[in-house]
Amino acid sequence: MEKVHVFNAGPCILPQEAIDNAIEALKNFKGTGVSVICMSHRSKEWESVMNECRSLWKELLHIPDTHEVLFLGGGASLQFLYVAMNYLNKKAAYLDTGVWAKKALKEAKGIGEAVAVASSADKNYNYIPKGYDIPKDADYFHITTNNTIYGTEIKEDIDCPIPLIADMSSDIMSRPVDVSKYDLIYGGAQKNVGPAGVIFAIVRKESLGRVERYIPTMLDYRTHLDKDSMFNTPPVFPILVMNETLKWLKGIGGVEAIHKINIKKAELLYNEIDRNSLFVGTAAKEDRSIMNVCFVMSEGNEGLQEEFATFAKERGMMGIKGHRFVGGFRASIYNACKIEDVQALVDCMKEFESLKR
Ligand SMILES: *Cc1c(COP(=O)(O)O)cnc(C)c1O
Repeated sequence: MEKVHVFNAGPCILPQEAIDNAIEALKNFKGTGVSVICMSHRSKEWESVMNECRSLWKELLHIPDTHEVLFLGGGASLQFLYVAMNYLNKKAAYLDTGVWAKKALKEAKGIGEAVAVASSADKNYNYIPKGYDIPKDADYFHITTNNTIYGTEIKEDIDCPIPLIADMSSDIMSRPVDVSKYDLIYGGAQKNVGPAGVIFAIVRKESLGRVERYIPTMLDYRTHLDKDSMFNTPPVFPILVMNETLKWLKGIGGVEAIHKINIKKAELLYNEIDRNSLFVGTAAKEDRSIMNVCFVMSEGNEGLQEEFATFAKERGMMGIKGHRFVGGFRASIYNACKIEDVQALVDCMKEFESLKR
């Protein structure tokens, strides 16, 4: 079989080492002779995985003692509701940077007053709005740091006069983050830190308990904080794979090291998109994501789209079809995607160009 280069947007490529270790744990968990999925989540062997995973999160992201990391089910989409339930008293402010941001806003609107302070919908979300005012009377400001579908990214921790909440589903652990600037950072694991089935939520502990409403037990972050994410049965296998993924990340030098590699990968691909006259990038240059690279055929070459899709597929490129809201192509180059994979895609674009000249 020819080598496959995986550019799936999520679930996505994970390190082979993590997958191999997970397979071993599926067969024989920590030498117990029992598969991890048959093991009690109250066993000391399981507890050691939970503890290790929590420690790795804290170490890799330099999470201060004011914050705790939780592992829950329900997907990032359920976090949209958690956010509003746990933080919205009178009013919430959102930055509308795409589909996921809009879905988060929708859930908040179901709970109370929620407004979009700025939007990039006018240009199909191909940029990050700037120069907007954050209302001081809002309970929090919600941002989506990486817009997976459109390939735009807020690459710096913004200064925010009110509590800041971020959906970091698709760029968590891809770059250093100053966690102390956020009251909550959350996301699904399946874009960069593990398989589908578990979410992470990094909460500022003292920011909880400020709303007056009744919060259903399972939707209250305090429930899970009090029980170390083991109030109910945790998604053991996804957490185990996440733990193995973080071990791998630590082994290659952590977030700071992978950030340098991610920048290199992104530059390699964007440089080719800018150089190759057959293609054009869709995201505003200053807001280009280092995780999801979106591009289309350039003007006059639109007719070549299907041909390039087939051409790339024949050369082992998997998952580069763009989201239907943008069209064209999207290469997701998350942490575990290697520079060799990106180089293979670049070579493929060059080869296609030479055939068309
Ligand atoms: C994928 C994604 C989500 C949704 O995640 P689910 O776990 O599928 O609910 C939310 N936000 C962003 C930025 C995403 O990329």
